[in-house]
Amino acid sequence: MLRYDDRIAVAVSGGKDSLALLKVLAKIERRFPASSVVAVTVDEGISVYRDEAIRHAEDFISKMGCVDHVKVSFKELFGFTLDDVVKSGEVDRAGVKPCTVCGVLRRRALDIAARRAGATVLATAHTLDDVVQTYLMNMLRGDVDKQPFGTRAELEGLVPRVAPFKLTPEVEVVMYAYLHGIPFQSHVCPYARTSMRDMIRNFLTEYEEAYPGTLYTALMSFEKLMKPSTAVLQKCEACGVPTSRKVCRACEILSCLGVEGVPVRKNA
Ligand code: SF4
Ligand code: ZN
Repeated sequence: MLRYDDRIAVAVSGGKDSLALLKVLAKIERRFPASSVVAVTVDEGISVYRDEAIRHAEDFISKMGCVDHVKVSFKELFGFTLDDVVKSGEVDRAGVKPCTVCGVLRRRALDIAARRAGATVLATAHTLDDVVQTYLMNMLRGDVDKQPFGTRAELEGLVPRVAPFKLTPEVEVVMYAYLHGIPFQSHVCPYARTSMRDMIRNFLTEYEEAYPGTLYTALMSFEKLMKPSTAVLQKCEACGVPTSRKVCRACEILSCLGVEGVPVRKNA
């Protein structure tokens, strides 16, 4: 996933998983003088919940002392907060869930933040649990033509992504965070209950408790079923990122919300 001379942007939301990843990667990176680590944070504009997380991130990073921190926000990049477009009813009118807007635009915002940080790779704190949830959600939507999650793929116009905790169960990350005094959030996202992921998470957690090892088996099975993508990538007509569609998903969502796409170069 990582090279000896990478500048690694770690996506730090302020939650325990991302702070644990930052701590682990900063520790490993000390043995590789040609590499460096930088934290990148996206503020989606979810009052109370994200405000608390960003406070945790800032405190933790300032105590680490040696890691730069690049922050971007939906407000700065797209002109609105997630709360704005949910409360005004625009998300409902666009026929999408808050988590879809949040997830798709956060991906874009992280890419912009990683470029600003001069990163050669972007590491996210997705755990084994997260990855299996994603595979199952994709399968239930009929979306099977996917690449393995978190495996480095170099595409012109996007910072490659890796998921170093992909084989680590969430429970182990929780234990690591607890033992290292990493702060836990007291607030949950107010939109989490509206997501399909929430239902899938509950189901998989119950199943893993009853039949330990299920998550690993599921991950291996999903990846065996994956076929190399046959989609031909082209540049999004609105922003220029590589996509299999005429207009990428981020620009499609922005246009449904009445906002223009954000050209990658403008924000790099
Ligand atoms: Fe965003 Fe949904 Fe996660 Fe909340 S639960 S942070 S809205 S993806
Ligand atoms: Zn686009």
